[in-house]
Amino acid sequence: MGPGMTDLSALADRLSSLTMGRASAPRLREGMLTLVLDVTGLSGPAREAMEREVKNAVAGEPGVEDVRIAMTQEKTSLRIIAVGSGKGGVGKSTLSANLAVALTKLGHRVGLVDADIYGPSQPRLMGSEGEKPEAIDKQMIPIMSRWGVPMLSMGHLVKAGQAIAWRGPMAGNALSQLVDAKWDGVDTLIVDLPPGTGDVQLSMIQKHKPAGAVIVSTPQDLALIDATRAVSLFEQAGVPMIGLVENMAGYACPSCGEISDPFGSGGAEKAAGEMGMPFLGRIPLTMAIRTASDAGEPPAAGDDGVEADAFRAIAEKVGTWLRKRVR
Ligand code: ADP
Repeated sequence: MGPGMTDLSALADRLSSLTMGRASAPRLREGMLTLVLDVTGLSGPAREAMEREVKNAVAGEPGVEDVRIAMTQEKTSLRIIAVGSGKGGVGKSTLSANLAVALTKLGHRVGLVDADIYGPSQPRLMGSEGEKPEAIDKQMIPIMSRWGVPMLSMGHLVKAGQAIAWRGPMAGNALSQLVDAKWDGVDTLIVDLPPGTGDVQLSMIQKHKPAGAVIVSTPQDLALIDATRAVSLFEQAGVPMIGLVENMAGYACPSCGEISDPFGSGGAEKAAGEMGMPFLGRIPLTMAIRTASDAGEPPAAGDDGVEADAFRAIAEKVGTWLRKRVR
C-alpha cells in the first residue's frame, strides 16, 4: 500500500459491516474501485438504497475516482401465492386467473397453477382448453396462454368433464407435478386451491409452503364464516395472509352502470378488519365477468372498464406485498 492509497482490507471490513456482509472483494485499479454486492432477496428500493450507501461510503477514500458495483443474486426459488376460499362458487378461480393476468400486465413474472384438481376451470377461464403440456425428462413444460401467463392445470391432462376421483396422496402428487414444472422466467406462482378447508388443502399447503395467501369471499355472512375457516387453515400452517378479496360485491347494472348491493356491502372489509388482515378490494357482480370468463377472455386483460379496474387495483396491492417481501 503506497502513501495516499486506500487500505483495502480495512475498507472491505467497513463495507461488510455496513451491508451486513453483502459487499465484498473491493479492488482498486487506476482510480477505479470495484466491488461485489450480493442483492439476493432485496426489493428494488432496498437494493438502490444499499447501492447508494456503499457509494457514499467509498466516495471520500483516497485514490478512488470512480466506483463500479457488480451485483450478484442467488437463483431464488419460486414464490407461491395461494388463493383460497371457504367454499366453492365464490369466484376463487375467476380471481386467480384475473390476478395472474393483471400482475403480468403490471410487469410481474407470474405463472398460474390450477390446484383445483377436482374441478379444474383454469383452461376454460384462460382460453387454453384442449392444449396439452409437453414434458422433458418427466418435468412438465407450462402452456403459454394467450394472455402471456404460463399455466398448468389438471384440466390440461384429462378430458373435459372427465371425473377425477383422486385420493389424498394422489392428489398431492398430481399437484406437486404442476408446481415442480419448468417455470423458467417465472418468480411467482398463483395457485388456485380447491375450495374448502379439508385435509387435502392442508397437506398441499404444508408441502408447498406458500409465501402468502389471498382469501376470496362473497359478502354473505355464511360465506364469511367459511372464509374465516379458510383463514384459520393458513394460519395453522404458518402462511402469511396477503389479504381478503370481496367478490360479487354489488351488482353493476349493465344498462346504467349503477351499482346496487343485493347481498349488502362492506361485510368482507369489516370481517377483514376484525380478523386483523388487509382488505385487498372488491369486485362487482357483472354480466361481463361471467360471459368473458366463459369465453376464455379474462376481464383483467382489458384496458378499462369497472372489471379491469377492480382486478388491477387488487393486483397493485398484491404487487406491493410482493415487493416488500424479502425472499
Ligand atoms: P370458485 O372458483 O370459487 O368455485 P368461480 O371462479 O368458478 O368460483 O366462479 C363461479 C361462477 O361465478 C362462474 O360462472 C363465474 O363466471 C361467476 N363469477 C365469479 N365472479 C363473478 C363476478 N364478479 N361477476 C359475475 N360472475 C362471476
